[in-house]
Amino acid sequence: MDSKADLLVYGMGERGILEVAVRMQAGETIEALRDLRGAAYRLGASATVPEEDSLWLPSFEEATADKIAFCHMTRVAHHETNPYNARRLLQRHGAETVVINPPAFPLNQREMDRVYGLPYSRLVHPSYGKARIPAYQVVKDSVQIMRGCFGGCTFCSITAHEGRIIQSRSEESVLSEIGQMTRMPGFSGVVSDIGGPTANMYQMRCTKPEVEAVCRRLSCVHPTICKLLGTDHGPLVSLMRKSRELDGVKKVMVASGIRMDLARRDPDYMRELVTHHVGGYLKVAPEHTDPEVLRLMKKPGSEDFEEFDREFKQASARAGKAQYLVPYYIASHPGSGLAAMIDLAVFLKRNHYKPDQVQDFIPSPFDIAACMYHTGLDPFTLQPVQVAKHLRDRKLQRALLQFFKPENYFEVRKALLEAGRSDLIGDGCDALIPARPPREALDHRRARANAALSEQSEGDHIRGGRPGTPGAPDAPGGGYRPHRKTAQRREQPRGGKRRPTA
Ligand code: SF4
Repeated sequence: MDSKADLLVYGMGERGILEVAVRMQAGETIEALRDLRGAAYRLGASATVPEEDSLWLPSFEEATADKIAFCHMTRVAHHETNPYNARRLLQRHGAETVVINPPAFPLNQREMDRVYGLPYSRLVHPSYGKARIPAYQVVKDSVQIMRGCFGGCTFCSITAHEGRIIQSRSEESVLSEIGQMTRMPGFSGVVSDIGGPTANMYQMRCTKPEVEAVCRRLSCVHPTICKLLGTDHGPLVSLMRKSRELDGVKKVMVASGIRMDLARRDPDYMRELVTHHVGGYLKVAPEHTDPEVLRLMKKPGSEDFEEFDREFKQASARAGKAQYLVPYYIASHPGSGLAAMIDLAVFLKRNHYKPDQVQDFIPSPFDIAACMYHTGLDPFTLQPVQVAKHLRDRKLQRALLQFFKPENYFEVRKALLEAGRSDLIGDGCDALIPARPPREALDHRRARANAALSEQSEGDHIRGGRPGTPGAPDAPGGGYRPHRKTAQRREQPRGGKRRPTA
Protein backbone atom coordinates (compact mmCIF):
# COMPACT_ATOMS: atom_id res chain seq x y z
CA MET A 1 0.00 0.00 0.00
CA ASP A 2 2.84 2.38 0.89
CA SER A 3 4.54 1.81 -2.46
CA LYS A 4 1.41 2.95 -4.35
CA ALA A 5 2.32 0.37 -6.99
CA ASP A 6 -0.36 -0.43 -9.56
CA LEU A 7 0.65 -4.08 -9.66
CA LEU A 8 3.09 -6.09 -7.61
CA VAL A 9 4.57 -9.36 -8.84
CA TYR A 10 5.53 -11.57 -5.90
CA GLY A 11 7.56 -14.78 -5.65
CA MET A 12 10.46 -15.44 -8.01
CA GLY A 13 8.53 -13.64 -10.70
CA GLU A 14 10.45 -14.42 -13.91
CA ARG A 15 7.36 -15.55 -15.81
CA GLY A 16 5.18 -12.80 -14.33
CA ILE A 17 7.57 -10.00 -15.25
CA LEU A 18 7.88 -11.34 -18.78
CA GLU A 19 4.11 -11.53 -19.14
CA VAL A 20 3.70 -7.94 -17.88
CA ALA A 21 6.26 -6.74 -20.42
CA VAL A 22 4.79 -8.66 -23.35
CA ARG A 23 1.19 -7.72 -22.63
CA MET A 24 1.97 -4.06 -22.01
CA GLN A 25 3.96 -3.92 -25.21
CA ALA A 26 0.89 -5.31 -26.95
CA GLY A 27 -1.11 -2.34 -25.64
CA GLU A 28 -2.87 -3.84 -22.61
CA THR A 29 -3.50 -1.58 -19.63
CA ILE A 30 -2.28 -2.29 -16.09
CA GLU A 31 -5.92 -2.98 -15.10
CA ALA A 32 -6.09 -5.71 -17.75
CA LEU A 33 -3.12 -7.44 -16.09
CA ARG A 34 -5.02 -8.07 -12.89
CA ASP A 35 -5.65 -11.67 -13.96
CA LEU A 36 -1.93 -12.44 -13.62
CA ARG A 37 -0.99 -15.25 -11.20
CA GLY A 38 1.57 -14.32 -8.58
CA ALA A 39 0.45 -10.70 -8.60
CA ALA A 40 -1.21 -8.37 -6.10
CA TYR A 41 -2.98 -5.07 -6.61
CA ARG A 42 -5.16 -2.53 -4.82
CA LEU A 43 -8.72 -1.55 -5.51
CA GLY A 44 -10.35 1.76 -4.61
CA ALA A 45 -13.47 2.03 -2.44
CA SER A 46 -15.86 2.11 -5.40
CA ALA A 47 -14.25 -0.73 -7.42
CA THR A 48 -15.87 -4.15 -7.74
CA VAL A 49 -14.03 -6.74 -5.65
CA PRO A 50 -13.59 -10.17 -7.30
CA GLU A 51 -15.20 -12.18 -4.49
CA GLU A 52 -15.75 -15.39 -6.42
CA ASP A 53 -13.14 -18.08 -5.51
CA SER A 54 -11.69 -15.65 -2.99
CA LEU A 55 -11.10 -15.66 0.75
CA TRP A 56 -11.36 -12.60 2.93
CA LEU A 57 -8.51 -12.11 5.37
CA PRO A 58 -9.12 -10.01 8.49
CA SER A 59 -8.75 -6.38 7.54
CA PHE A 60 -5.41 -4.67 8.04
CA GLU A 61 -6.90 -2.68 10.92
CA GLU A 62 -8.28 -5.85 12.60
CA ALA A 63 -5.02 -7.77 12.16
CA THR A 64 -3.08 -4.84 13.59
CA ALA A 65 -5.31 -4.44 16.65
CA ASP A 66 -6.18 -8.07 17.41
CA LYS A 67 -3.68 -10.90 17.81
CA ILE A 68 -6.25 -13.62 17.16
CA ALA A 69 -7.08 -11.92 13.86
CA PHE A 70 -3.35 -11.77 13.05
CA CYS A 71 -3.08 -15.54 13.71
CA HIS A 72 -6.11 -16.17 11.51
CA MET A 73 -4.59 -14.10 8.71
CA THR A 74 -1.28 -15.99 8.92
CA ARG A 75 -2.97 -19.41 9.05
CA VAL A 76 -5.23 -18.76 6.07
CA ALA A 77 -2.47 -17.25 3.94
CA HIS A 78 -0.11 -20.18 4.58
CA HIS A 79 -2.81 -22.66 3.57
CA GLU A 80 -3.15 -20.87 0.24
CA THR A 81 0.39 -21.35 -1.05
CA ASN A 82 -0.18 -24.40 -3.26
CA PRO A 83 -0.61 -22.88 -6.75
CA TYR A 84 -2.85 -25.76 -7.79
CA ASN A 85 -5.57 -25.09 -5.22
CA ALA A 86 -4.84 -21.65 -3.74
CA ARG A 87 -7.66 -19.15 -3.72
CA ARG A 88 -7.44 -15.42 -4.23
CA LEU A 89 -6.95 -13.50 -0.96
CA LEU A 90 -8.66 -10.21 -0.18
CA GLN A 91 -7.91 -7.75 2.56
CA ARG A 92 -9.44 -4.40 3.36
CA HIS A 93 -7.12 -1.52 4.15
CA GLY A 94 -9.39 1.32 5.23
CA ALA A 95 -11.74 1.93 2.30
CA GLU A 96 -9.43 0.17 -0.16
CA THR A 97 -8.94 -3.55 -0.83
CA VAL A 98 -5.75 -5.45 -1.54
CA VAL A 99 -6.20 -8.41 -3.87
CA ILE A 100 -3.57 -11.16 -3.85
CA ASN A 101 -3.89 -13.56 -6.74
CA PRO A 102 -2.88 -17.24 -6.30
CA PRO A 103 0.86 -17.95 -6.67
CA ALA A 104 2.41 -18.54 -10.09
CA PHE A 105 2.70 -22.15 -11.23
CA PRO A 106 6.16 -23.65 -10.73
CA LEU A 107 8.61 -23.39 -13.62
CA ASN A 108 9.12 -26.62 -15.51
CA GLN A 109 12.62 -27.93 -16.17
CA ARG A 110 12.91 -26.30 -19.58
CA GLU A 111 11.97 -22.90 -18.11
CA MET A 112 14.37 -23.39 -15.21
CA ASP A 113 17.17 -24.16 -17.68
CA ARG A 114 16.32 -21.02 -19.63
CA VAL A 115 16.40 -18.81 -16.55
CA TYR A 116 19.68 -20.25 -15.30
CA GLY A 117 21.18 -20.46 -18.79
CA LEU A 118 21.07 -16.69 -19.39
CA PRO A 119 24.50 -15.14 -20.01
CA TYR A 120 25.23 -13.98 -16.45
CA SER A 121 28.67 -12.47 -15.95
CA ARG A 122 29.11 -14.18 -12.53
CA LEU A 123 30.96 -11.02 -11.45
CA VAL A 124 30.12 -8.28 -8.98
CA HIS A 125 28.63 -5.09 -10.35
CA PRO A 126 31.35 -2.87 -11.84
CA SER A 127 30.38 -0.08 -9.41
CA TYR A 128 32.12 -2.06 -6.63
CA GLY A 129 35.44 -1.77 -8.44
CA LYS A 130 38.12 -3.93 -6.85
CA ALA A 131 36.45 -4.06 -3.42
CA ARG A 132 36.45 -7.47 -1.75
CA ILE A 133 32.83 -8.38 -1.05
CA PRO A 134 32.54 -11.18 1.54
CA ALA A 135 29.09 -12.33 0.38
CA TYR A 136 30.39 -12.67 -3.19
CA GLN A 137 33.26 -14.87 -2.01
CA VAL A 138 30.68 -17.29 -0.60
CA VAL A 139 28.64 -17.63 -3.78
CA LYS A 140 31.02 -16.96 -6.66
CA ASP A 141 31.97 -20.61 -7.16
CA SER A 142 28.62 -22.13 -6.20
CA VAL A 143 25.88 -23.48 -8.42
CA GLN A 144 22.16 -23.61 -7.72
CA ILE A 145 20.55 -26.81 -8.93
CA MET A 146 16.96 -26.32 -7.75
CA ARG A 147 14.61 -23.96 -5.94
CA GLY A 148 11.70 -24.32 -3.52
CA CYS A 149 11.45 -26.36 -0.33
CA PHE A 150 8.79 -28.71 1.01
CA GLY A 151 10.25 -28.68 4.54
CA GLY A 152 7.88 -25.97 5.81
CA CYS A 153 10.10 -24.85 8.72
CA THR A 154 8.10 -22.16 10.46
CA PHE A 155 11.02 -19.72 10.86
CA CYS A 156 11.74 -19.71 7.13
CA SER A 157 9.95 -17.82 4.38
CA ILE A 158 11.31 -19.81 1.42
CA THR A 159 7.83 -21.28 0.81
CA ALA A 160 6.44 -17.77 0.48
CA HIS A 161 9.15 -16.80 -2.04
CA GLU A 162 9.91 -19.98 -3.98
CA GLY A 163 7.03 -22.29 -3.18
CA ARG A 164 6.79 -25.78 -1.72
CA ILE A 165 7.11 -27.57 -5.06
CA ILE A 166 10.70 -28.31 -6.01
CA GLN A 167 11.75 -26.90 -9.38
CA SER A 168 14.94 -28.47 -10.66
CA ARG A 169 17.34 -27.72 -13.49
CA SER A 170 18.38 -30.46 -15.87
CA GLU A 171 21.67 -32.25 -15.36
CA GLU A 172 22.98 -30.76 -18.65
CA SER A 173 22.18 -27.22 -17.56
CA VAL A 174 24.00 -27.59 -14.21
CA LEU A 175 27.02 -29.27 -15.81
CA SER A 176 27.20 -26.61 -18.48
CA GLU A 177 27.28 -23.87 -15.80
CA ILE A 178 30.06 -25.65 -13.91
CA GLY A 179 31.93 -25.93 -17.23
CA GLN A 180 31.66 -22.14 -17.62
CA MET A 181 32.96 -21.67 -14.09
CA THR A 182 36.08 -23.67 -14.89
CA ARG A 183 36.84 -21.18 -17.66
CA MET A 184 36.51 -18.14 -15.37
CA PRO A 185 39.82 -16.42 -14.54
CA GLY A 186 40.93 -17.33 -11.02
CA PHE A 187 38.75 -20.42 -10.63
CA SER A 188 40.55 -22.70 -8.18
CA GLY A 189 38.94 -25.94 -9.33
CA VAL A 190 36.70 -26.14 -6.27
CA VAL A 191 32.95 -25.74 -6.65
CA SER A 192 32.07 -24.37 -3.21
CA ASP A 193 28.45 -25.55 -3.23
CA ILE A 194 26.14 -27.58 -5.38
CA GLY A 195 22.74 -27.04 -3.82
CA GLY A 196 19.76 -24.78 -3.24
CA PRO A 197 17.48 -23.96 -0.31
CA THR A 198 18.03 -27.59 0.77
CA ALA A 199 20.91 -29.53 -0.74
CA ASN A 200 19.17 -32.87 -1.14
CA MET A 201 15.72 -32.16 -2.55
CA TYR A 202 16.86 -32.18 -6.19
CA GLN A 203 14.13 -33.60 -8.47
CA MET A 204 11.99 -34.69 -5.51
CA ARG A 205 8.27 -34.27 -5.75
CA CYS A 206 4.89 -35.67 -4.76
CA THR A 207 4.41 -38.93 -6.65
CA LYS A 208 0.68 -38.36 -7.19
CA PRO A 209 0.05 -35.14 -9.13
CA GLU A 210 -3.71 -35.44 -8.57
CA VAL A 211 -3.19 -35.50 -4.78
CA GLU A 212 -0.55 -32.78 -4.91
CA ALA A 213 -3.07 -30.58 -6.72
CA VAL A 214 -5.45 -30.64 -3.76
CA CYS A 215 -2.98 -30.98 -0.88
CA ARG A 216 -2.92 -28.27 1.80
CA ARG A 217 -0.24 -29.71 4.07
CA LEU A 218 2.34 -27.10 4.99
CA SER A 219 5.17 -29.62 4.96
CA CYS A 220 5.71 -32.87 3.09
CA VAL A 221 8.14 -34.03 5.80
CA HIS A 222 6.58 -32.94 9.08
CA PRO A 223 5.39 -34.40 11.41
CA THR A 224 6.39 -37.44 9.33
CA ILE A 225 7.64 -37.90 5.78
CA CYS A 226 4.52 -38.20 3.63
CA LYS A 227 4.30 -41.63 2.03
CA LEU A 228 3.49 -40.00 -1.32
CA LEU A 229 6.69 -37.97 -1.38
CA GLY A 230 9.26 -39.16 -3.92
CA THR A 231 12.54 -39.25 -2.00
CA ASP A 232 14.81 -40.85 -4.61
CA HIS A 233 18.31 -39.34 -4.38
CA GLY A 234 19.34 -41.11 -7.63
CA PRO A 235 19.24 -38.04 -9.92
CA LEU A 236 21.22 -36.04 -7.35
CA VAL A 237 23.85 -38.74 -6.92
CA SER A 238 24.25 -38.93 -10.70
CA LEU A 239 24.63 -35.13 -10.91
CA MET A 240 27.20 -35.08 -8.10
CA ARG A 241 29.27 -37.80 -9.78
CA LYS A 242 29.21 -36.13 -13.19
CA SER A 243 30.00 -32.70 -11.80
CA ARG A 244 33.20 -33.80 -10.09
CA GLU A 245 34.35 -35.62 -13.21
CA LEU A 246 34.30 -32.46 -15.34
CA ASP A 247 37.62 -31.21 -16.72
CA GLY A 248 39.06 -28.46 -14.53
CA VAL A 249 37.10 -29.52 -11.43
CA LYS A 250 39.09 -30.82 -8.47
CA LYS A 251 36.37 -30.95 -5.86
CA VAL A 252 32.64 -30.27 -5.57
CA MET A 253 31.42 -29.39 -2.09
CA VAL A 254 27.95 -29.49 -0.57
CA ALA A 255 27.60 -26.38 1.60
CA SER A 256 23.81 -25.93 1.47
CA GLY A 257 21.90 -27.47 4.38
CA ILE A 258 21.12 -31.18 4.23
CA ARG A 259 17.68 -32.47 5.12
CA MET A 260 18.96 -35.21 7.41
CA ASP A 261 15.77 -37.31 7.62
CA LEU A 262 15.74 -37.62 3.82
CA ALA A 263 19.48 -38.27 3.52
CA ARG A 264 19.29 -41.15 5.97
CA ARG A 265 16.81 -42.90 3.69
CA ASP A 266 19.44 -43.36 1.01
CA PRO A 267 22.74 -45.05 1.93
CA ASP A 268 24.04 -44.44 -1.62
CA TYR A 269 23.61 -40.70 -1.18
CA MET A 270 25.20 -40.76 2.27
CA ARG A 271 28.19 -42.66 0.87
CA GLU A 272 28.57 -40.33 -2.09
CA LEU A 273 28.26 -37.23 0.07
CA VAL A 274 30.64 -38.35 2.80
CA THR A 275 33.25 -39.81 0.46
CA HIS A 276 33.49 -37.01 -2.08
CA HIS A 277 31.62 -33.84 -1.14
CA VAL A 278 32.51 -32.86 2.42
CA GLY A 279 35.57 -30.73 3.03
CA GLY A 280 36.15 -31.87 6.62
CA TYR A 281 33.02 -30.26 8.02
CA LEU A 282 29.38 -30.65 7.05
CA LYS A 283 26.85 -28.05 8.14
CA VAL A 284 23.55 -29.39 9.39
CA ALA A 285 20.69 -27.62 11.11
CA PRO A 286 18.99 -29.59 13.87
CA GLU A 287 18.08 -26.12 15.29
CA HIS A 288 17.08 -27.33 18.79
CA THR A 289 16.68 -30.38 20.99
CA ASP A 290 13.48 -29.55 22.84
CA PRO A 291 10.54 -31.56 21.41
CA GLU A 292 8.03 -28.73 21.85
CA VAL A 293 10.30 -26.14 20.21
CA LEU A 294 11.02 -28.57 17.36
CA ARG A 295 7.29 -29.16 16.93
CA LEU A 296 6.70 -25.41 16.71
CA MET A 297 9.55 -25.16 14.19
CA LYS A 298 8.20 -28.14 12.19
CA LYS A 299 11.60 -29.81 12.46
CA PRO A 300 12.29 -33.51 13.07
CA GLY A 301 13.02 -34.70 16.61
CA SER A 302 16.49 -34.56 18.10
CA GLU A 303 16.93 -38.31 17.67
CA ASP A 304 16.96 -37.73 13.92
CA PHE A 305 20.13 -35.65 14.26
CA GLU A 306 21.71 -38.16 16.63
CA GLU A 307 21.03 -40.98 14.19
CA PHE A 308 22.40 -38.93 11.29
CA ASP A 309 25.49 -38.11 13.34
CA ARG A 310 26.08 -41.81 14.01
CA GLU A 311 25.64 -42.74 10.33
CA PHE A 312 27.82 -39.84 9.22
CA LYS A 313 30.64 -40.95 11.51
CA GLN A 314 30.36 -44.55 10.32
CA ALA A 315 30.35 -43.53 6.66
CA SER A 316 33.33 -41.19 7.24
CA ALA A 317 35.26 -43.98 8.97
CA ARG A 318 34.52 -46.32 6.05
CA ALA A 319 35.78 -43.65 3.65
CA GLY A 320 38.91 -43.27 5.80
CA LYS A 321 38.20 -39.59 6.51
CA ALA A 322 38.23 -37.54 9.69
CA GLN A 323 35.13 -35.41 9.17
CA TYR A 324 32.83 -33.60 11.55
CA LEU A 325 29.33 -32.24 11.65
CA VAL A 326 28.80 -28.56 12.37
CA PRO A 327 25.30 -28.34 13.86
CA TYR A 328 23.46 -25.03 13.78
CA TYR A 329 21.07 -24.05 16.55
CA ILE A 330 18.69 -21.15 17.08
CA ALA A 331 18.38 -19.29 20.38
CA SER A 332 15.17 -17.50 21.43
CA HIS A 333 12.91 -19.19 18.89
CA PRO A 334 9.27 -18.94 20.04
CA GLY A 335 8.64 -21.75 22.52
CA SER A 336 12.26 -21.77 23.67
CA GLY A 337 12.66 -20.80 27.33
CA LEU A 338 15.64 -21.01 29.64
CA ALA A 339 14.92 -24.62 30.65
CA ALA A 340 14.87 -25.76 26.98
CA MET A 341 18.09 -23.88 26.24
CA ILE A 342 19.80 -25.37 29.29
CA ASP A 343 18.82 -28.86 28.10
CA LEU A 344 20.27 -27.96 24.70
CA ALA A 345 23.52 -26.78 26.33
CA VAL A 346 23.73 -30.05 28.29
CA PHE A 347 23.22 -31.96 25.03
CA LEU A 348 26.04 -30.00 23.37
CA LYS A 349 28.36 -30.65 26.29
CA ARG A 350 27.60 -34.40 26.37
CA ASN A 351 28.21 -34.70 22.65
CA HIS A 352 31.31 -32.49 22.62
CA TYR A 353 29.82 -29.89 20.28
CA LYS A 354 31.07 -26.34 20.55
CA PRO A 355 29.11 -24.27 18.04
CA ASP A 356 31.27 -21.56 16.60
CA GLN A 357 28.35 -19.67 15.15
CA VAL A 358 24.93 -19.38 16.69
CA GLN A 359 21.76 -17.90 15.38
CA ASP A 360 19.54 -15.53 17.31
CA PHE A 361 15.95 -15.86 16.19
CA ILE A 362 14.90 -12.88 14.07
CA PRO A 363 11.26 -12.81 12.97
CA SER A 364 11.16 -12.53 9.19
CA PRO A 365 8.18 -11.06 7.40
CA PHE A 366 5.18 -13.32 7.13
CA ASP A 367 6.66 -16.56 8.40
CA ILE A 368 4.73 -18.56 10.96
CA ALA A 369 7.32 -18.14 13.71
CA ALA A 370 7.13 -14.36 13.25
CA CYS A 371 3.40 -14.63 13.94
CA MET A 372 4.18 -16.60 17.14
CA TYR A 373 6.72 -13.97 18.12
CA HIS A 374 4.28 -11.13 17.61
CA THR A 375 1.16 -12.72 19.08
CA GLY A 376 2.59 -15.17 21.65
CA LEU A 377 0.23 -17.76 20.16
CA ASP A 378 0.55 -20.79 17.92
CA PRO A 379 -1.56 -19.66 14.93
CA PHE A 380 -2.77 -23.22 14.30
CA THR A 381 -3.91 -24.10 17.82
CA LEU A 382 -4.14 -20.62 19.36
CA GLN A 383 -2.33 -22.05 22.38
CA PRO A 384 0.05 -19.66 24.18
CA VAL A 385 3.70 -19.84 23.14
CA GLN A 386 6.53 -18.61 25.33
CA VAL A 387 8.45 -15.81 23.60
CA ALA A 388 11.77 -14.26 24.65
CA LYS A 389 11.54 -10.65 23.53
CA HIS A 390 13.62 -8.76 26.06
CA LEU A 391 17.26 -8.27 25.18
CA ARG A 392 18.32 -9.60 28.58
CA ASP A 393 16.45 -12.92 28.08
CA ARG A 394 17.74 -13.24 24.53
CA LYS A 395 21.31 -12.67 25.70
CA LEU A 396 20.98 -15.44 28.30
CA GLN A 397 19.66 -17.88 25.67
CA ARG A 398 22.40 -16.99 23.26
CA ALA A 399 25.10 -17.34 25.92
CA LEU A 400 23.85 -20.84 26.78
CA LEU A 401 24.58 -22.00 23.23
CA GLN A 402 28.22 -21.05 23.82
CA PHE A 403 28.39 -21.87 27.53
CA PHE A 404 32.05 -22.93 27.09
CA LYS A 405 33.21 -19.40 26.20
CA PRO A 406 34.69 -17.60 29.21
CA GLU A 407 33.11 -14.33 28.13
CA ASN A 408 29.69 -15.93 28.56
CA TYR A 409 30.44 -17.23 32.07
CA PHE A 410 28.44 -14.70 34.06
CA GLU A 411 25.42 -14.80 31.76
CA VAL A 412 25.34 -18.60 31.79
CA ARG A 413 25.64 -18.52 35.57
CA LYS A 414 22.76 -16.07 35.80
CA ALA A 415 20.62 -18.28 33.52
CA LEU A 416 21.39 -21.42 35.53
CA LEU A 417 20.63 -19.78 38.87
CA GLU A 418 17.45 -18.25 37.52
CA ALA A 419 16.28 -21.64 36.24
CA GLY A 420 17.17 -23.37 39.51
CA ARG A 421 19.94 -25.41 37.86
CA SER A 422 22.84 -24.68 40.18
CA ASP A 423 23.63 -28.41 39.86
CA LEU A 424 25.23 -27.47 36.51
CA ILE A 425 27.68 -25.05 38.17
CA GLY A 426 30.68 -26.81 39.59
CA ASP A 427 33.80 -28.72 38.80
CA GLY A 428 32.24 -32.11 37.97
CA CYS A 429 32.32 -33.35 34.38
CA ASP A 430 28.54 -32.81 34.04
CA ALA A 431 28.69 -29.14 34.99
CA LEU A 432 28.35 -26.52 32.27
CA ILE A 433 30.53 -23.93 33.99
CA PRO A 434 33.03 -24.08 36.85
CA ALA A 435 32.12 -22.84 40.32
CA ARG A 436 34.77 -20.12 40.21
CA PRO A 437 34.87 -17.79 37.22
CA PRO A 438 37.92 -18.38 35.03
CA ARG A 439 40.43 -15.53 34.75
CA GLU A 440 39.36 -14.75 31.17
CA ALA A 441 35.75 -14.32 32.35
CA LEU A 442 36.85 -11.77 34.95
CA ASP A 443 39.11 -10.00 32.44
CA HIS A 444 36.27 -9.86 29.95
CA ARG A 445 33.86 -8.47 32.56
CA ARG A 446 36.41 -5.84 33.58
CA ALA A 447 37.03 -4.85 29.96
CA ARG A 448 33.31 -4.53 29.39
CA ALA A 449 32.84 -2.42 32.52
CA ASN A 450 35.75 -0.16 31.49
CA ALA A 451 34.30 0.25 28.02
CA ALA A 452 30.93 1.17 29.50
CA LEU A 453 32.59 3.63 31.88
CA SER A 454 34.58 5.34 29.17
CA GLU A 455 31.46 5.63 27.08
CA GLN A 456 29.68 7.14 30.05
CA SER A 457 32.51 9.57 30.72
CA GLU A 458 31.92 11.01 27.27
CA GLY A 459 28.31 11.53 28.31
CA ASP A 460 26.51 14.84 28.58
CA HIS A 461 26.63 15.16 32.38
CA ILE A 462 30.43 15.52 32.36
CA ARG A 463 31.52 17.15 29.13
CA GLY A 464 28.42 18.66 27.74
CA GLY A 465 27.24 15.69 25.70
CA ARG A 466 28.63 13.32 23.11
CA PRO A 467 28.95 14.91 19.66
CA GLY A 468 25.61 15.01 17.94
CA THR A 469 23.52 14.44 21.08
CA PRO A 470 21.27 17.02 22.71
CA GLY A 471 23.32 19.24 24.95
CA ALA A 472 26.53 18.61 23.04
CA PRO A 473 28.53 21.63 21.84
CA ASP A 474 27.70 20.81 18.24
CA ALA A 475 23.99 20.28 18.91
CA PRO A 476 21.51 22.97 17.95
CA GLY A 477 21.05 25.20 20.97
CA GLY A 478 24.01 23.64 22.81
CA GLY A 479 27.55 24.78 23.69
CA TYR A 480 28.91 28.20 24.59
CA ARG A 481 26.93 31.19 23.41
CA PRO A 482 28.39 34.60 24.45
CA HIS A 483 24.99 36.26 24.71
CA ARG A 484 23.46 33.69 27.00
CA LYS A 485 22.81 34.62 30.64
CA THR A 486 25.09 31.83 31.81
CA ALA A 487 27.93 33.06 29.58
CA GLN A 488 27.55 36.59 30.87
CA ARG A 489 27.63 35.40 34.48
CA ARG A 490 30.79 33.42 33.72
CA GLU A 491 32.48 36.51 32.26
CA GLN A 492 31.55 38.72 35.24
CA PRO A 493 34.64 39.58 37.37
CA ARG A 494 34.72 37.83 40.74
CA GLY A 495 33.27 40.07 43.48
CA GLY A 496 32.44 42.72 40.87
CA LYS A 497 29.11 44.23 40.16
CA ARG A 498 26.72 42.13 38.20
CA ARG A 499 26.29 43.24 34.63
CA PRO A 500 22.76 43.99 33.71
CA THR A 501 21.26 41.20 31.70
CA ALA A 502 18.87 41.53 28.87
S1 SF4 B 1 0.40 -35.50 -0.65
FE1 SF4 B 1 2.23 -35.64 0.60
S2 SF4 B 1 3.96 -35.52 -0.82
FE2 SF4 B 1 2.12 -34.90 -1.93
S3 SF4 B 1 2.16 -32.65 -1.72
FE3 SF4 B 1 0.89 -33.43 -0.04
S4 SF4 B 1 2.30 -33.66 1.69
FE4 SF4 B 1 3.54 -33.45 -0.14
